Amino acid sequence: MSIRSVLQDNLNLSDEKLMAFEKFADFLKEKNKQMNLTAITDDDEIAVKHFLDSLSLYNALDIRDKSKIIDIGTGAGFPSVPLLIYNKTLKITMVDSLGKRLRFIDEALEKLDLTAETIHARAEDLGRDPEYREKYDFAVSRAVAGLNVLVELCVPFIKAGGIFAAMKGPEAENEISAAKSALDLLGAEVTETKSVVLPGDLTRKIIVIQKVRETDERFPRTSKNILKRPL
Ligand code: SAM
Repeated sequence: MSIRSVLQDNLNLSDEKLMAFEKFADFLKEKNKQMNLTAITDDDEIAVKHFLDSLSLYNALDIRDKSKIIDIGTGAGFPSVPLLIYNKTLKITMVDSLGKRLRFIDEALEKLDLTAETIHARAEDLGRDPEYREKYDFAVSRAVAGLNVLVELCVPFIKAGGIFAAMKGPEAENEISAAKSALDLLGAEVTETKSVVLPGDLTRKIIVIQKVRETDERFPRTSKNILKRPL
């Protein structure tokens, strides 16, 4: 099936947005021949596993016009670019430690006539920068690290009361128990786990985490300590 028909079967999108998704998929496939952006290259799979999966955040979170969102470990722009194609008013910051992926995103945004900030940094360094710390309504992250590590990377960016959404596979519940002490130390709690069923009966989980108090200045720690001694 084509990108357009998969999206049309599952969502009600304007022709302009359908064209933007097609354009982004074409550019992703073209650039993926020169650099490692994604293992998913078939149109059907791009539509389901990249686009519909990214857009499932709209069902799980109360994302509004102009919401401030930070995407940690965005890679080739997931979930951020689909979120932005769907609602171009969002104020999105995409962070990755690999600069070439961000250059791909910058080019894609220009082609799509969309605006977002891309930052080449490690999340644990940027999370200590006062310009980015505790400034976001939402942090989102897909396929970057185990939840116990991820909460230390992501929670510092959101305001008290803000939400971190971790996009996970079907085994998410095990990760929540392993992240209990990290969540306590970071002043955050799991409010719910949303199940997402994508076409083809693929199950995904979105772990919705609310920040209940400001992050202690000890966090995030250095990458070495985060990996050596997860909270
Ligand atoms: N989120 C995208 C997706 O779902 O397709 C990309 C996932 S990819 C498997 C993980 C990405 O996270 C890589 O691009 C990697 O460079 C980035 N990454 C890993 N650890 C990071 C860190 N500490 N700070 C920033 N980026 C990181």
